[in-house]
Amino acid sequence: GPSAMLKKQAASVEFRNVTKRYGSVTAVDSVSFVIEPGQLVTLLGPSGCGKTTTLRMIAGLEMASAGQILIGGRDVTNLSAADRDVSMVFQSYALFPHMSVLENVAYGPTVQGASKKDAVAMAMEKLSLVGLTGLEKRAPSELSGGQQQRVAVARALVLEPQVLLFDEPLSNLDAKLRRRVREDIRELQQNLNLTVAYVTHDQEEALAVSDRIIVMSNARIAQTGTPRELYEEPADLFVADFIGDANILTGAVVDLAGPQAHVQIDRLRIELPHRGVMKGPVKLAVRPDAIFLDETMAQPNAVSGTVRKASYLGTQIEYEVESPIGELFVVQYGRKEPIAPGTPVAISFALQRGVAIIPGA
Ligand code: ATP
Repeated sequence: GPSAMLKKQAASVEFRNVTKRYGSVTAVDSVSFVIEPGQLVTLLGPSGCGKTTTLRMIAGLEMASAGQILIGGRDVTNLSAADRDVSMVFQSYALFPHMSVLENVAYGPTVQGASKKDAVAMAMEKLSLVGLTGLEKRAPSELSGGQQQRVAVARALVLEPQVLLFDEPLSNLDAKLRRRVREDIRELQQNLNLTVAYVTHDQEEALAVSDRIIVMSNARIAQTGTPRELYEEPADLFVADFIGDANILTGAVVDLAGPQAHVQIDRLRIELPHRGVMKGPVKLAVRPDAIFLDETMAQPNAVSGTVRKASYLGTQIEYEVESPIGELFVVQYGRKEPIAPGTPVAISFALQRGVAIIPGA
């Protein structure tokens, strides 16, 4: 009825030690997190890590084996999907093929008891929000993949849920469209101040759309943070490797001074946030654009290496470099002449922000 027309406040989502078991398989193992109201949080991780199961437990499509789930501060652990005020956009879109676009979107409010007139008005409003005005009478089969995706979003929005869930929403779209649609989803989420949980296995997509990312590995949370925190301060080797590209190098903390650690990597000496480590050997995650290659060999304290491979990619040049600190993957931006394979180079770290000690590695 008309109550569904009222704008709802975005709600928080909280997991407290939530576990999901399927027989002997633990799909989600004592996971805790908070999604703040109006935030878009991505569940990111490799296949089988438990992200879809986590999303389905928010929706109430799977029941937790243990722990507590709260939405807007309300304990919903034992509530069915219908009682949770949550909508989900499925990977397959799950549109009704025999209904028009308008009927697909008006279906939810109708089932919830809205009059036909109200349901149509609500559907028209949401179709306009996702940019589909004018296509109301089409069948889903008469739409492009991107348009079908937008119908699925309108259909999820029409009930004005407290929380909107996306399960790999871009996986049926081609690469170019994916980029556009993810920007559209982000814009809509920010304009409507929606709380969104979003599942993907694509780290670039997660970095692009998220306020925060929950990285999952083997049914547990590996790390939670903003895209920048995860990229610049990975908590472990898994996250360093999964988010962006990283050279994992071995160095040694030779001195600790306040919040800084003096780290020696062969002949290079750098100061980094110590992140709780002690003196002795450490692993470092070094981003490919944090490494500087100098063919003039001018820097006295650099490590010497040799370019093995150079790939010109337009906006960037990618190098493989052999060196005493390991085989390095290096990216240089800007319009430079590529350094030819076989050329000796002096290696140094250009951006200290792209170098992080990995605690506990
Ligand atoms: P993907 O990206 O491949 O969808 P995911 O990270 O979403 O992976 P889940 O689908 O959550 O992973 O699955 C986590 C684990 O739980 C996997 O080992 C999976 O095989 C198992 N699992 C999921 N659903 C069931 C089920 N209904 N019955 C038994 N095991 C299940």
